[in-house]
Amino acid sequence: MPARRTAAAATDGGEDERRALLRRRLARAIPRPECELDFASPWQLLVATILSAQSTDRTVNRVTPALFARYATPAALAAAPPGDVEALVKSTGFFRNKAKAIQGASRVLVEQHGGEVPRDLERLVELPGVARKTANVVLGTALGVNSGITVDTHAGRVARRLELSDEQDPVKVERDLCAVFPRRSWADTGHRLVLHGRYVCVARKPRCAACPLNELCPAREADPEGGWTARAAAEAQLVAARGEAPDPSGTSRRRAAR
Ligand code: SF4
Repeated sequence: MPARRTAAAATDGGEDERRALLRRRLARAIPRPECELDFASPWQLLVATILSAQSTDRTVNRVTPALFARYATPAALAAAPPGDVEALVKSTGFFRNKAKAIQGASRVLVEQHGGEVPRDLERLVELPGVARKTANVVLGTALGVNSGITVDTHAGRVARRLELSDEQDPVKVERDLCAVFPRRSWADTGHRLVLHGRYVCVARKPRCAACPLNELCPAREADPEGGWTARAAAEAQLVAARGEAPDPSGTSRRRAAR
């Protein structure tokens, strides 16, 4: 296992060069950064993102088709019997609070925003159950607004391992990341960090040998295998297959637990 190195020692150049290389490699490894929640409108993504708290995207994607089939608009969901909504979202956990939040948010959309999801962060975070992370996901993914960088548990862990932040508070991590990545890439960057953390830089036993960021990472726990472009191509495959692609050793890999 290699000794842990400082960020400054990770490349021959300075910290600016290391960060530029990190941006380049991350973009190559995840060329199509996408949200793994299924949705057909900004409102559906808002609801799905609220339901994803303390759950998995896969679980939410199993729940939302029936929910949106029965309640197809914010008005319909807002007026639904609470017990029925609770039953539909039960498997995502914390279902009473989540049902209350998605109905409450839908009600405010109807009463104050003409049934549309507002396009700015300040008004979005006023909705029940919508914190900054959810607002960034919806704005960046469904509305094309680079309001910030989504920082969940995966993105926060990756940011700290790469020494792009030493904060624990997601809002402070986001502030640090926004200083590293250009604004036009903020939504994509959030998805890239989440996906990199979900499939490669996992919490326990990160796949450092296969990681395309290896040479640039002060927290790496193994030497790199092969060139970074090949590792990036393998990660692109893995992400595209949502964790089901074969890894470079040919071993089938199950979707990483969240
Ligand atoms: S080298 Fe390891 S710790 Fe660093 S980003 Fe890659 S997987 Fe994470």
